[in-house]
Amino acid sequence: MSSRTPAHRRTFLKAGSTLLLSVIAPMAANAMQILAVRVWPAADYTRVTLENDAELKASHFLVKDPNRMVVDIEGLTLNATLKDLVAKIQTNDPYIKQVRVGQNRPNVVRLVFDLKEEINPQVFSLKPIGDYQHRLVFDLYPANPVDPITALIEKGEWHKDDALTAAMSGNNKNENAANNNNKHDNKAEQKTDKPTSNQQIRMITIALDPGHGGEDPGAIGRAGSREKDVVLAIAKRLKHQLEQEDNMRVMLTRDGDYFVPLQTRVKKARGVQADLFVSIHADAFIEPRARGSSVFVLSEKGASSTAARWLAKKENDADLIGGINLKDQDKQLAGVLLDLSTTAQINDSMKVGKVVLKEISGVNRLHKPAVEQAGFAVLKAPDIPSILIESAFISNPEEEARLTDEAYQNELAEAIVRGIKKYFAKNPPLNRGKIA
Ligand SMILES: [Zn+2]
Repeated sequence: MSSRTPAHRRTFLKAGSTLLLSVIAPMAANAMQILAVRVWPAADYTRVTLENDAELKASHFLVKDPNRMVVDIEGLTLNATLKDLVAKIQTNDPYIKQVRVGQNRPNVVRLVFDLKEEINPQVFSLKPIGDYQHRLVFDLYPANPVDPITALIEKGEWHKDDALTAAMSGNNKNENAANNNNKHDNKAEQKTDKPTSNQQIRMITIALDPGHGGEDPGAIGRAGSREKDVVLAIAKRLKHQLEQEDNMRVMLTRDGDYFVPLQTRVKKARGVQADLFVSIHADAFIEPRARGSSVFVLSEKGASSTAARWLAKKENDADLIGGINLKDQDKQLAGVLLDLSTTAQINDSMKVGKVVLKEISGVNRLHKPAVEQAGFAVLKAPDIPSILIESAFISNPEEEARLTDEAYQNELAEAIVRGIKKYFAKNPPLNRGKIA
């Protein structure tokens, strides 16, 4: 929890100023204050965050015909910041039609969310962390979520034929992973799996994962650029370039400014049976002179360097800053991912990591000349080669300027595409159409 130091300092200062205030205006001492209200609409879910100087107690219930969610918050008096919530709901919010805010009883504020469809809400509080104080979070998930592949087709990003190929290809990923163990022995056999002119092209599915988003801005540069914006821009360019290839299609784990928990990113990639997972970041380092690009893969045995361990911890903290409902997460963790071996995955990830790093060295200097390893939570899909690219250090003013430069973003994306193409040319994905 070393990253909590600034929060403590801020909380301490805040406590000091509250104390001062209470001397001047004793009446205000006990009243809780909403400090900020944020809304993050997205197709996945809409989040509403209330940031407060103390923990808020809330209860909620759902009403049908028409769909509403009613929230009562205790110990609160309506203020201007909270009233602002009404204006912060956008007309194109996928789930919220409007919010009504009122003082329901003395000391109880009632929020009524008028909904566009039935939702499955998660309501939870988060303790102060990073630059945030206490947060009360409402995550409004659709009660009837659309299947991810259907959603991509509806958006016009994938074609029906692709979906058919994916569906027919079945679910023999385990066989795929097992085969990876003796890849050296079966090269000849793999070649026969390459599509001939008579066969349908085997689409290669790439999951691109722009780090952070929403409540989690990621690292922030000296000129104010936010990692979450820079990496989304790079990922979108990368997506566009990959889609120029006949045999490649792309799924973005997020395509807007909202937070996606680390586990969900992995789940999304598995949901579309991705052949490759590429997470894009642009972090800060303690040392502002630190510069250069790096590529990371998962480690089962500890990090390859102190810096790699530090960075993985920082990235894994995204869930704390972005905020997840731990109760819900525990339920999900009880599932499959944890105990599966990732040895074969790491071997494949190393291969793709090396070739991508080499291509990146043509457009930016490297932070380290080799692929590094550490326990990044987002790289833990046991059956998908997964790499994390630190495009550059946003904490280095010179690199911050490059990261926001369109020409550089394109060059970087081109380099990554070249690496990915070279990897798949040497390691064609197995034909999932054959069911063992
Ligand atoms: Zn990051």
